[in-house]
Amino acid sequence: TLPLQNKVAFIQGGSRGIGAAIALRLAREGAAVALTYVSSADKANAVVDTITAAGGKALAIKADSADAEALRLAVQQAVQHFGRLDILVNNAGVFAMGGIEELTLDDLDRTLAVNVRSVFIASQEAARHMNDGGRIIHIGSTNAERMPFGGGAAYAMSKSALVGLTKGMARDLGPRGITVNNVQPGPVDTDMNPDDGEFAEQLKQLMAINRYGKDEEIASFVAYLAGPEAGYITGASLTIDGGFAA
Ligand code: NDP
Repeated sequence: TLPLQNKVAFIQGGSRGIGAAIALRLAREGAAVALTYVSSADKANAVVDTITAAGGKALAIKADSADAEALRLAVQQAVQHFGRLDILVNNAGVFAMGGIEELTLDDLDRTLAVNVRSVFIASQEAARHMNDGGRIIHIGSTNAERMPFGGGAAYAMSKSALVGLTKGMARDLGPRGITVNNVQPGPVDTDMNPDDGEFAEQLKQLMAINRYGKDEEIASFVAYLAGPEAGYITGASLTIDGGFAA
């Protein structure tokens, strides 16, 4: 049997990039997957179609992570649809670039709403429905450990907040056997950070392994943390970054 057979996963932000790779990977390991998106309906539906074509179960739900009520309803809808909840992956994130003198209040608020507040809200709603022995995984960033260029202060702040949230949540949910971890990727080739983008060469020079990560590499790590063998890892922020923070 597959490691995630009969498990239900909710992925906040699963239409593109790392989140889509996580959705496909968890489904391949047997989980039924609900995934949210805010604007890419076609891409979210394509992920669902790929999973169902392979014999899996998937559901796409439109829910802006900045909208607390929409996010809560999305979690509830997934629980109703699949009948249970075992795994939550908080992947939705935004990167608003701007130095401290320039960054607008709107950019700051959006960054905190999507990268931090939504993680708290989805976790809270999921924890109320989740089975004992469940898994909660946040997608943070190696920028919580190292911020080697300008313009990323708000982003680094948002991802650093997840480090503390992870520790506290691990204490809250440990008695139920639910683990809470924060996966901190380095540069990964996605729409947010393309391998051929403006900063790509500069970033590669900062790493022990001088290449971008693949979304499948992050998904594989997440699948391990979501699986039955990872029950003793909790409260941890774990970098997977080609040595970016080394
Ligand atoms: P992408 O920009 O490629 O994809 C972002 C995903 O999040 C999409 O599915 C998007 O949905 C969803 N999303 C964004 N905002 C919202 C919102 N308000 N409500 C619901 N869904 C939303 O990003 P990546 O795959 O690169 O990044 C995924 C995560 O990994 C983020 O948290 C990011 O900070 C983190 N990360 C990325 C790194 C990288 O180098 N790529 C490095 C370190 C961390 P839609 O398609 O509808 O817009």
